[in-house]
Amino acid sequence: MDTIREQISEDKIFIQTLPGFAEGYNNIEVSMLRLDLLHPIISGNKWYKLKHNIAIATTEGRNTILSFGGAYSNHLIATAAAAQNAGLKSIGMVRGLHAEQEKTQVLQQCAAMGMELHFLNREEYSRKAEVPFLQALSDQFNHPFIIPEGGANDEGRVGAGEIAKLIPDDYTHICLSVGTATTLIGLRNALPLAQNVMGFAPMKGGTYLNEHISHFLLPEKNAQWSLTDWYHFGGFGKVTSRLYEFMGIFYADYGFPLDKVYTAKMMFGIKDLIPEDTFDIGSKILCIHTGGLTGN
Ligand SMILES: *Cc1c(COP(=O)(O)O)cnc(C)c1O
Repeated sequence: MDTIREQISEDKIFIQTLPGFAEGYNNIEVSMLRLDLLHPIISGNKWYKLKHNIAIATTEGRNTILSFGGAYSNHLIATAAAAQNAGLKSIGMVRGLHAEQEKTQVLQQCAAMGMELHFLNREEYSRKAEVPFLQALSDQFNHPFIIPEGGANDEGRVGAGEIAKLIPDDYTHICLSVGTATTLIGLRNALPLAQNVMGFAPMKGGTYLNEHISHFLLPEKNAQWSLTDWYHFGGFGKVTSRLYEFMGIFYADYGFPLDKVYTAKMMFGIKDLIPEDTFDIGSKILCIHTGGLTGN
């Protein structure tokens, strides 16, 4: 696959205005930070969460990266590509024994990029953050550098915070989709407090993450953020005809796609919230396109 050798390039990222998205309501402006353009596979926020992990692995002289994810995981495919890019081997621990038969596109692409896949049953997978389990994996696979699911560690949060450098101060609201909330935490910690950070969870009951988020926020940054789980469309990975229709209209209007798991639900939510007066008159909203298009 040639695309993998394509450079990771922040130069390709830009802010695209979305004229008409707020339909003139309250003079609100909506724009999109196109992180999806960073790289065809290591797209969006995933690279930022991985970059320091990969750098440390390289500095420590490790030759293998090990991480975790489901059969549709954007994190796993980004890890496979980033490891290959850095000349490291990669091992993917996949959730669910059924995934071995399923052979999703994501897993096939991971394998094509040299990732060695191992399948864990649900019970084993649920121990993915426990020290004795990680120690056993470390011994079994000759001491790889282990990155938690979703890149959810300090290096991931700090890396995600670097996205803040791409965000001008005059935006009043920064909106992003949330999975592990690693990106939201990194950004909230890095952005000026005046900027409101709004997370959109694409799964049912996503506000369970509130406590986790608070825990990792710097005390002085633990304000001006929110998380909504209203726009889940039936749950994580679920898509309705209404959402597909919205994605189609968005593409026709602005000429680039949203991913169906994360950013489409967020954009639908923002459009829905604008007439509800969630945003003040004259708000400048910056939405983050976190990528994920390999999953469409
Ligand atoms: C992984 C992913 C997210 C979630 O990022 P977290 O840091 O885990 O919250 C959001 N959008 C897309 C497209 C993703 O692939």
